[in-house]
Amino acid sequence: MKIIFFGPPGSGKGTQAKLFSEEIGIPHLSTGDILREKLKFKDKLSIKLQKIMSSGNLVSDSLLNEIISDKLSSNDCLNGFILDGYPRTIAQSDFLLSFLKINNQRLDLIFDFEIDFKIIEKRILNRSKEERRSDDNLDVIKTRLDAYMKETFPVSKFYSEKFRDIYFTIDASKDIEEISRELLKISKKVEI
Ligand code: AMP
Repeated sequence: MKIIFFGPPGSGKGTQAKLFSEEIGIPHLSTGDILREKLKFKDKLSIKLQKIMSSGNLVSDSLLNEIISDKLSSNDCLNGFILDGYPRTIAQSDFLLSFLKINNQRLDLIFDFEIDFKIIEKRILNRSKEERRSDDNLDVIKTRLDAYMKETFPVSKFYSEKFRDIYFTIDASKDIEEISRELLKISKKVEI
């Protein structure tokens, strides 16, 4: 299955995408995780990335598109993929849709996590204590939520119209187990 998880930072989509990936045996491609791996190299690129990511702004479309096209072309993704954190801009969405078209592939399922931004702020501040991410503090959260509203929300809106039959909004304020069950239930329905 080829699946996209949309949702603002801190909505829990990363946790759910990971659990869902383990449940259905399809690779989880989190662009945030892939970029954080790159930070470990301490090279020129990582210094640049660190600066952008710790400010809460988005990394360039060209780098993200390159990362995703490499991943989606790899054998790991022969049976599908779960995209978490991509596409995040119109340019990334255009790239993805043309990549799928050229490769004769189509999306099977889209989840869009919806949640009050006040709950997100609380969640991210808690996560900052557990995971020590440099992009988890109030100022940066604000920048990340602004970037989401400005760049990503229009993309998810477009998908909600273009892919109406496979697009599902998820109430991300529910607890982890309940959401997991809901995602599985929806995926089984769509498979039939
Ligand atoms: P995430 O873990 O998905 O919240 O991503 C952490 C950070 O990585 C974001 O705040 C961005 O700086 C960067 N990032 C992740 N995915 C993308 C993307 N698709 N486009 C641009 N920047 C991204």
